[in-house]
Amino acid sequence: MKIAIMSRKKALYSTRRLIEAGEQRGHEVQVVDTLRCYMNIASHKPAIHLKGQPLEGFDAVIPRIGASITFYGTAVLRQFEMMGVWPLNESVAISRSRDKLRSLQLLARKGIGLPITGFAHSPDDVDDLIKMVNGAPLVIKLLEGTQGIGVVLAETKQAAESVIEAFMGLKANILVQEFIKEAGGADIRCFVIGDKVVATMMRKAKAGEFRSNLHRGGTAELIKITPEERSTAVRAANVMGLNVAGVDILRSNHGPVVMEVNSSPGLEGIEHATGKDIAGMIIDFLAKEAKPNKTRTRGRG
Ligand code: ADP
Ligand code: MG
Repeated sequence: MKIAIMSRKKALYSTRRLIEAGEQRGHEVQVVDTLRCYMNIASHKPAIHLKGQPLEGFDAVIPRIGASITFYGTAVLRQFEMMGVWPLNESVAISRSRDKLRSLQLLARKGIGLPITGFAHSPDDVDDLIKMVNGAPLVIKLLEGTQGIGVVLAETKQAAESVIEAFMGLKANILVQEFIKEAGGADIRCFVIGDKVVATMMRKAKAGEFRSNLHRGGTAELIKITPEERSTAVRAANVMGLNVAGVDILRSNHGPVVMEVNSSPGLEGIEHATGKDIAGMIIDFLAKEAKPNKTRTRGRG
């Protein structure tokens, strides 16, 4: 099979591992720099060009689109889809997952457990918004933040009010969320491929920090999850329309709650924590599923 990996750099751990796993299995793997792909979108025969050459003959594409280039990256992926190339995750599903509010609304509609979450526009409604999520302490999140940046814990009502008003003053879109204190600064990353959780790890925040992101100094360890957590993770990935996802769950007093669903989950943390060949599992899944013109949405929607 001929596989394209959309990625900015070959040297990134996840990219490197996917190349290795693909080549080991006898596939031809090419990394295409997402931001160097360009295209004539009006052509009746959709194509993508890279450094003067058309990209041709690909059976599947693995999108690894960084949060800062979601807009351009999903446009390139859509073009691959229009060419009939099978995407590991579809452009529509990736766009959905990058908007925390939209994701939570979709998950809520399907009855998936979530932290109590509020959203408001006007500073006049802040007081009631805080009451709606059961008061301080509470968590305030930028809608398009990632790696823990843009996630703030407000310990008191006054702190919450001033942070929310400051973000609103900057016209930043935020959501306000119940703080799951009982999770103790730890969350569970469930790595989903297809309809299976293939690996899990618990991430613990460093001392004095509530965010467990590895990028924020968190550490990873092995964990066994419950059947309820397992089915929650699989359903969450499925609702988002993602074949491969990192579903982050908090253990709350009212059961497992999904915090977010990542569409380009990193491989380094989870492979090191579990010793599993996740890259290999991704390539095996892709080899089994990839068929030409099998994109469900074919780039629409
Ligand atoms: P990001 O996309 O930046 O990773 P998250 O929503 O995953 O944003 O939040 C970052 C981290 O903050 C989480 O991994 C978790 O440890 C902590 N966190 C986020 N929301 C809550 C919450 N409602 N209660 C407790 N901890 C939270
Ligand atoms: Mg996160």
